[in-house]
Amino acid sequence: MTYTNFTIETDADGIALVTWDMPGKSMNVFTAEVLRELAAVNDAVVKDEAIKGVVFTSGKATFSGGADLSMIKGMFTFQAEEKKKNPETAAQKLFELCGEMTGLFRKIETSGKPWVSAINGTCMGGAFELSLACHGRVASNSKAVKIALPEVKVGIFPGAGGTQRVPRLTNAQDALQMMTTGQTLTPQRAKALGLVHELAAPEALIDAAKAMIKNGLKAVQPWDEKGFKAPGGSMWSAAGAQLWPAASGILRRETYGNYPGALAIVKCVYEGLQVPFDTALKIEQRYFTQILQTTEAFSMIRSLFVSMQELGKGARRPAGVPKSDFKHVGVIGAGFMGASIAYVTAAAGIPVTLIDRDIDAATKGKAHSEGLVKDSVAKGRMTQEKGEQLLALITPSADYADLKTADFVVEAVFEDRKVKKDVIEAVEAVLSPDAIFASNTSTLPITGLAENSKRPAQFIGVHFFSPVEKMMLTEVILGKETGDAALARALDYVAAIKKTPIVVNDTRGFYVNRCVFRYIHEAYDMLIEGVPAVMIENVAKMAGMPVGPLSLNDEVAIDLSQKILKATVADLGEQAVDPAHLELVNKLVDDLDRRGRKNGKGFYDYPEKPAKKHIWAGLKDLYPQKSADELDVQTLKDRFLVTIALEAARTIEEGIVTDPREADVGSILGFGFAPYTGGTLSYIDGMGAKAFVALCEKLALSYGDHFAPTPLLKDMAAKGETFYGRFDPYAKVAAAA
Ligand code: NAD
Repeated sequence: MTYTNFTIETDADGIALVTWDMPGKSMNVFTAEVLRELAAVNDAVVKDEAIKGVVFTSGKATFSGGADLSMIKGMFTFQAEEKKKNPETAAQKLFELCGEMTGLFRKIETSGKPWVSAINGTCMGGAFELSLACHGRVASNSKAVKIALPEVKVGIFPGAGGTQRVPRLTNAQDALQMMTTGQTLTPQRAKALGLVHELAAPEALIDAAKAMIKNGLKAVQPWDEKGFKAPGGSMWSAAGAQLWPAASGILRRETYGNYPGALAIVKCVYEGLQVPFDTALKIEQRYFTQILQTTEAFSMIRSLFVSMQELGKGARRPAGVPKSDFKHVGVIGAGFMGASIAYVTAAAGIPVTLIDRDIDAATKGKAHSEGLVKDSVAKGRMTQEKGEQLLALITPSADYADLKTADFVVEAVFEDRKVKKDVIEAVEAVLSPDAIFASNTSTLPITGLAENSKRPAQFIGVHFFSPVEKMMLTEVILGKETGDAALARALDYVAAIKKTPIVVNDTRGFYVNRCVFRYIHEAYDMLIEGVPAVMIENVAKMAGMPVGPLSLNDEVAIDLSQKILKATVADLGEQAVDPAHLELVNKLVDDLDRRGRKNGKGFYDYPEKPAKKHIWAGLKDLYPQKSADELDVQTLKDRFLVTIALEAARTIEEGIVTDPREADVGSILGFGFAPYTGGTLSYIDGMGAKAFVALCEKLALSYGDHFAPTPLLKDMAAKGETFYGRFDPYAKVAAAA
C-alpha cells in the first residue's frame, strides 16, 4: 500500500523505517488524513510477519510541530455545530473525537511489535505524545532537537496520553513542571528526565534506533508490566505527601486560577496515577473534553495559535504585490531602538547600514549588536562563526549616500518633528525610487510625518516595542496616503525579522499605546482614590497582566507619561486629559524627580542589587489610603481589563484597527493583556457584548465616564453580536475569492 504522508522501507533485519514526510509542507503536522494513514501503517505492520519492529522518523529537518490548525479549528466547528444540532449528545460526541488520537497511540503501543521514535528535530505536542507511546525514543544529540508539550500555552493540555505517560516515565514534580509551563527541553534534559532513552549523533540516529530493536527492545511499555510503579512514588509516599498539597498552591501562585488547562493537568496527573493506565487515559480524555469547551481554550487557540499564524503568514498583505527580497536595509538613528533594529535585521541575514549623526555614534550603535553576539556565543546559543557573519552584515556610517541601494529604510531618530523632517528629506535625496521609508515614531502621527515626504505613498510607520530583540509584535501604521507597495514591503520586512505584524490606521498612540495608557491611567485613578499601591500591582497580576501598571510605568518612564499628557493638552486642549493625572505625574517628576527605573526612583525604589525593587514608601503619603478591607478585588480586576478592552473596542469603532485578530494578538504580544482571555476583543466576545455593556455601565456609575459603553457596543449588545461575527476577518477573504 502507498501512503501520501508516509513511506515504509523494511530492511533485511525486518525493521520497517516509517518516514513521515508530508508533501508540500515545510513541517509535519497531524491532520485527519495523517491519523488515518498512521492507523493504516500500524495495521500493515501488525499484519506483516516479516516486520519485527518499527523505527518512526521524519523526512523533514524538524520532527513535527504537533497538531495542525485545521484539525484544532475543526474540533471547535464540530463542537459548535453539534451543540446546535444535537445538544444532548454533543459533549459525548466531542469526547469520542478527543479519544481518537489517544486510541490510535494506545493501539500502536499495544500492537505487539516494538516501535522506536527517532527524533531528528523539533518535536512538539502530539508528535511527542506519539513518541511517548513508542517503546523506545532516541533523539539526535543536536541543538535542532527541541522537545515540548506546549499545549497549555494555547489554553489546552496534552490530551493524547501526555499527562499519563510523562509522570510514568519521570517524577510527578518534573512532569507537572514540564506540562503546566509548556517548557522546551533540550535532548539532554529530556534524557536526564527519562523521557528519551538514548541520544545519538544526527547521522547515527536511525542506526541507533534500529539497534534498540535488534537488542531486544520489549514491545511492552513499563506501565503495562505487572507491578509497575511510577518513578515519583505514590500519592501516599513521603515524596507524594510533599508534592501534592503544594502543587495546587504553586499553580495558583503562578496562574491565579486563570488557566483551566493548567489546572486540568494537575488533576489528570493526580487522578491518573492512582488508577490503571487505560482508566487514566479515560480520565485525561474527560478533562480534555471539558477543557475544549471552555471559553479560555477557544479564545486562546483562536488568538495565540490560529490568528498569530495567519497574521505571521501575511493575512493582511495586499495581494498582487510581488514578494520583497531584501538586499539592503538602512536604519537611521543608532540609539536605543535603532541599534536593536539593526541587530534583528542582521540576524535575519539582511545587510544593514546603521546611520547616526557621526561615525562614533553609529559605531556605538553597532557595539550593541557586538554585546548581544558575545553574550549569545558565551551562552552557547550562537556559534562564533554565525556571530561574526551577523556582525559583518552591519555597517556603521554617517553618510546618507550609503543608502542608495537600500530597499527599505527604518528611521529611529529623536522623537522630534523637526529632526525627523530633516532626516526624511536627507534620506529621500539619495533613496532609489521604489524604496520604502518607515518611521519608528511612537507618538507622532504618520500622516503628519509623511507631509515631509515627496513620496507619501511609499511612507509608512513600523512601530517596534522594546526590547526589540524579545518583543514579538510590530505595529505597521498606515498614513492616509500610504500605498499597497509600502504595506506589502513593511509586512515582508516584519516577516523577515520573524515578528508578528498588526496593521493599524493612523491615530495618536496607535493601537498598543492607546490601550497601555488606559491601563496606566486606571492605576493613577486607583492611587488617587487611595487604593494601596501594592494592591494595585497585585490585583493587576491577578487579572492576568504580566506586569503591574506602576511597574510598567516605571519601565516606560514617568517623565514620558508626563510628556505625552502635556502633548495631548497642547494638541487637543485641557479637557483631553484628567487634571488629577497631570498633577500626579508633575508631582512625581518635577517635585520629586521620580522618573522611573531609569533614575532609580519611580513608583518603586530600585536599591542596589541583590536587593529587590519595592514600592516607594512615600507613595502612601500622597493620597489618603483606603484599607484593603474596603476594596473589592473583583471590581479592581474588572476595572483594569474593562478599561483596556473598551479602548480596543473604540479603535475598532473608529476604524483604527479593522481586524479583530489584530486587536487580540496585538494586545497579548504588545502588552501581555490577560492571555487566558484571548485578547481584548475576545475578552468582550467571551462574556458577550450584553454582559460587557452591563459591566461598563456599573463601573461608569462609580468610576467615571471613561467606562461608559460606546454606541457600537450597545448596538452589538442589542443585537447579540460578537466582534468576530460583526467584523468577520474571513468574510473579506471569502468575498474576494
Ligand atoms: P535615542 O535617543 O536612544 O536614539 C536616537 C538616536 O538618533 C540617537 O543615537 C541620535 O544620535 C540619533 N539621531 C538624532 N538625530 C539624528 C540625525 N539627524 N541623523 C541621524 N541620527 C540622528 O531614542 P530611541 O529611544 O531609540 O527612540 C528613537 C525613536 O524610536 C523615537 O521616534 C521614539 O519615539 C521611537 N520609539 C522608542 C521606543 C522606546 O521604547 N524607546 C519604542 C518605540 C518607538
